[in-house]
Amino acid sequence: MNIVCLDLEGVLVPEIWVGLAEITGVEAFRATTRDVPDYDELMGMRLAEMDRRGLGLPDIQEVVARLEPLEGAREFLDGLRSRYQVVILSDTFYEFARPLMAQLAWPTLFCHTLDVEESGRIGGYTIRLADHKRRTVAAFRDLNFRTTAAGDSYNDTGMLSEADAGIFFRPPESIAAEFPQFPVTNDYNALRQAVDAAFAGR
Ligand SMILES: [Mg+2]
Repeated sequence: MNIVCLDLEGVLVPEIWVGLAEITGVEAFRATTRDVPDYDELMGMRLAEMDRRGLGLPDIQEVVARLEPLEGAREFLDGLRSRYQVVILSDTFYEFARPLMAQLAWPTLFCHTLDVEESGRIGGYTIRLADHKRRTVAAFRDLNFRTTAAGDSYNDTGMLSEADAGIFFRPPESIAAEFPQFPVTNDYNALRQAVDAAFAGR
């Protein structure tokens, strides 16, 4: 039995925080873990900026709803789901991802949750499980699934290593160079072929 684990942002949908920065004009939202490597510090900055601007979850959801999946993502995902079990493993939050998940026909998503106050203010967040992408792939292997994982960035390399086959999708060149063991794909046809080949080869 085969299961495909996919990263979300950069693979099926745009980077949500970058989209938020573009639509709201709040440049501070553009920072990523490449700029601020400590995730807690980065999230703290983002939430402080929301407080400063009086933005709560409903405001953010309204903005995320204006984002769209990457071109061809829905068709790619539908095709993949017709052949394999597919689980999306993301470090985003359910509350942010919802409007995009609706546009992808509600695939299975494992991610994290926000702590939202009654006023809509985002008071904090709860990481469901540290290193969950890698640990989820390991758990699927324990459950006797053959696993292929695809992602675009550093936070995917754990699951790409853990999977029976790991594939990059549109990674930054520096990250691809650092992990030459993972083949690089740049469009959905190539990614689908790489997934099919990975499962066919074993
Ligand atoms: Mg990504």
